[in-house]
Amino acid sequence: MRSASASPGLPLHWKMAIGFVVGTALGLLANLYFADAAWLDGFITYVSDPVGQLFLRLLFMLVIPLVFSALVLGVVEIGDPESLGRIGVRTLFWLLLVTTAAVTIGLVAVNLFKPGIGLPPETTAMLLEQGSQRGGEIASAAREAPSGIQLLLNIVPRNPIASAAAGDLIAVMFFALMFGIAATIVRNRATASFVQVCQGIYDICLKLIDWVIRMAPYAVAALLFTITARLGVDVLVQLAKYVGTVLAALGFHMFVVFPLLLWLVARRSPMAFFKGAQPAMLTAFSTSSSSASLPTTLQVAEERLNLPRRVARFVCTLGATANMNGTAMFEGITVLFLAQFYGVDLSTSQQIMILGLCVMGGIGAAGVPGGSLPVIAMILAMFGIPPEGIGLILGVDRLLDMSRTAVNVTGDLVLSEVVARGEPMDPQAPAVPVLPGGGSG
Ligand code: ASP
Repeated sequence: MRSASASPGLPLHWKMAIGFVVGTALGLLANLYFADAAWLDGFITYVSDPVGQLFLRLLFMLVIPLVFSALVLGVVEIGDPESLGRIGVRTLFWLLLVTTAAVTIGLVAVNLFKPGIGLPPETTAMLLEQGSQRGGEIASAAREAPSGIQLLLNIVPRNPIASAAAGDLIAVMFFALMFGIAATIVRNRATASFVQVCQGIYDICLKLIDWVIRMAPYAVAALLFTITARLGVDVLVQLAKYVGTVLAALGFHMFVVFPLLLWLVARRSPMAFFKGAQPAMLTAFSTSSSSASLPTTLQVAEERLNLPRRVARFVCTLGATANMNGTAMFEGITVLFLAQFYGVDLSTSQQIMILGLCVMGGIGAAGVPGGSLPVIAMILAMFGIPPEGIGLILGVDRLLDMSRTAVNVTGDLVLSEVVARGEPMDPQAPAVPVLPGGGSG
């Protein structure tokens, strides 16, 4: 898989950082000297805002096909009843449990540190009004927050096409999961072709994300200009708090939750594990892509951690797209941060729903740089939080992407250790066929 930073010239993350600095600096200057000028208003309305919007629309465009195909493939890969039944069930159980723990840690961190709170109320009111007009188009249906039993019932779409059209991500995810499960059980030529089609859709989406992400430097500059020209310097303080919160939560998961799992469940020395896992962690950190790290992850699992090959292959291949602890946690933190930032109040039941969405979002996000951004944009819109907020975090996203990808890939190896406990080592020949879309071997 090619990383999105493969464009010629400067690496993409540098271009994005430059976009961030240029957009912010120009926006602050404009805010300082020309706050009331008519031309500034015109520039924001006709240039910087539409450029940012274009980028967001392109991301939105990809969500439904991406989430649908990734989830179907994830379930099909996990659920091959013949050779992978037991391993599959254990993988699914631990995957969901650990991802839920990760998102919960993230949500607790945001509620504790409140990184998004602090803007003057009149500023947030203005922000909300501007942003919600657009976010509202997609969100209007989801915004009348249903509660109680209705919330649960809404998970099941009455009409999956209508749900997709309305941007109701959770219903689409449910539909995709059911489709995947049935496709796993009915195994014939026709269903195999369907799975192939899903693989095709998924691959095409990855390519498209690669293209869209190339536009990011300009979009970042435009979005940051729009926000800082309107708001001034306050916004930057919030951003620093947000970065601190994400890194603290990721660090907790990596250095407290993972060692506990290794020690208590996998019965493995955390020190020895981290020593062995190092090359995969570094590859993940430097590529920001779980998929690009997969060959290294597999090699580390088999050769340095001595895991049974069939377990490692299955768990790590699936994990590269479906087991993303860091990403799920990051999605939760970002959604709540932006809700705080824009002054959108979220009830406990809404936060629980966000938790569920982020767990699924971790399964549905693509393992490429910025793969979680479309999912975040969609969740934001669902809860009436202006998706423009994405522009705020994009400029600092590279460091966060590197860090969360390292957690994602380490999580795949930890999951392999946990699932492999009690499994016999491999017989001479590998017992498991290569999974669709998977591995290096
Ligand atoms: N870059 C992440 C990964 O590949 C996905 C994301 O969170 O954007 O694991």
